[in-house]
Amino acid sequence: MFNLILFGPPGSGKGTQSEKLINKYGIKHLSTGDLLRSEITHQTALGLEAKKFMDKGQLVPDEVVIGMISSAIDQNEGVKGFLFDGFPRTSAQAEALDKLLELKNAPIALMLALEVSEEELVKRLMKRGETSGRSDDTNETIIRARITEYRNKTAAVADYYRQFDKVKIVKGEGSIEDIFNGLCNEIDARL
Ligand code: ADP
Repeated sequence: MFNLILFGPPGSGKGTQSEKLINKYGIKHLSTGDLLRSEITHQTALGLEAKKFMDKGQLVPDEVVIGMISSAIDQNEGVKGFLFDGFPRTSAQAEALDKLLELKNAPIALMLALEVSEEELVKRLMKRGETSGRSDDTNETIIRARITEYRNKTAAVADYYRQFDKVKIVKGEGSIEDIFNGLCNEIDARL
């Protein structure tokens, strides 16, 4: 298996690049944001709990997302690999993910970290809010709260993988194709 993490702040382009990466490499996309929004749409207990945090731009509690990712991994026996998008977002999630993947003998091969300036992030998210229907993209206070959560809790996840020499930083500004090529170069160097 070939397991990747696509990392970066909200609005750094993880969703856009994930679509292209899974098509090229034939791996399974697991986005905790998408999984949580689907739980909300189906009005499950998990979704209703998660929504309280998401509406404020805060992270959903670790045990909720870890349980959700664990069952998603179990439901995808036999895939070539996973592309994790929006997960892990805390050090506790990173440690839990390593344990889950250890059971499958399939560790994370690489973390690709997209780098984008804060002003560009806010601009992109406000623009996405015009069409995405995502309430957390329409309010600048919520957007700034998400970026603060990223700085306070999520940025450290890169340090966790850096100790295993698994992190590559890729420029997340420029054309979608150029960024995609930057990501593919790093992946191909490790494949
Ligand atoms: P973005 O990266 O643009 O913030 P996502 O779709 O990845 O968008 O996440 C939307 C929201 O879902 C986050 O603000 C957070 O509340 C919640 N969320 C997603 N993934 C996680 C996670 N791994 N841990 C905790 N909360 C999460």
